[in-house]
Amino acid sequence: MQRNKSEKVDLKDLTQDQLVRFVESLGQPAFRGRQILSWIYRPGISEFSQMTDLAKEFRAALAHTATISRFDDYLLQRSMDGTVKFAFRLDDGLVIESVLIPEEDRNTLCVSSQVGCAMGCIFCLTGKMGLRRNLRTAEIVNQVCAVQEWSLSQGRRPLTNLVFMGMGEPLANLNNVLDAISILTEQRGLDFSNRRITVSTCGLVPQMQILGEQTGVNLAISLHAVNDEIRSSLMPINRRYSLRQLIEASRTYPQKRRKRVMFEYTLLEGVNDSAGDAEKLADLLQNVPCKINLLSVNPTGDSRFRSPKDEQILHFQKILRDRGFTVFIRQSRGEDIAAACGQLASDGWSENRHNPIKDQS
Ligand code: SF4
Repeated sequence: MQRNKSEKVDLKDLTQDQLVRFVESLGQPAFRGRQILSWIYRPGISEFSQMTDLAKEFRAALAHTATISRFDDYLLQRSMDGTVKFAFRLDDGLVIESVLIPEEDRNTLCVSSQVGCAMGCIFCLTGKMGLRRNLRTAEIVNQVCAVQEWSLSQGRRPLTNLVFMGMGEPLANLNNVLDAISILTEQRGLDFSNRRITVSTCGLVPQMQILGEQTGVNLAISLHAVNDEIRSSLMPINRRYSLRQLIEASRTYPQKRRKRVMFEYTLLEGVNDSAGDAEKLADLLQNVPCKINLLSVNPTGDSRFRSPKDEQILHFQKILRDRGFTVFIRQSRGEDIAAACGQLASDGWSENRHNPIKDQS
């Protein structure tokens, strides 16, 4: 918790333990920290004066030293398929995007962890932005708070699932992502089950181990190729951690029994979509407790890549299924509002974009 002396502490940057230490530094007992935590994640709470079971003097001391941030300033765009993309303007003027994906049995929010991304995956618009900066813990959890409040205000179901698959590589901002997960899963915080949270990585091998040891969340790995040559050409991270190292780390990823790592495999016509590639993928993932998601490449303005035909995708799936794998074909969502995988690029802050709706509720 490093702060300039004149700056107030944003309590949404703090996990329960950090909040306890903070109130203790103000001469208060530990339980006051837990009490405050259960206030700040209630919808509509942003003032200490609303915390009616705290003494007036303590509320005044809090107002002097701390603040509770909120994302009030945002735009949203609705896709024809029900997906809703939110663009949040941060204090320094940078913009991040989150995507709400309503489905029959779940309401998933795709959360960003960085502004831009340094990983440079070739098919990803966020990667083309480069890394502007890491998000603070509060900026990660505020995406969830804002969309949750918006959903409830619209009479929609609450969020059920969170996926760290928005802008940025979550494991490159590991400490803040770990703190955000702690708040998201804390009963007095946002009270999501670990089982309902998935963190996706392009393959930061050492950080995967730490994530598994410190949380019980699901891991998704963007694989996209079955040999080092092609993977390195698509995803520069592969030059640092090879396919062999990545597969080995996924095999030993610390997780509860019966949980399985999810491999994301984007099919690119003529690059990684042949029957031989499917067989090689099955060989690679043998003995790794896993599931496989097959995706079609989404338009990102890069005409080098095209999606294979449906029959090719089904054939690829069949080869893997015949080898005993659980394989899904993931339908792309929100393409018409540039909200699909690889399309987030924080260009949503424009009143001139297609049908943006200012929503401050
Ligand atoms: Fe970064 Fe993920 Fe895009 Fe790769 S796919 S550049 S890790 S945001």
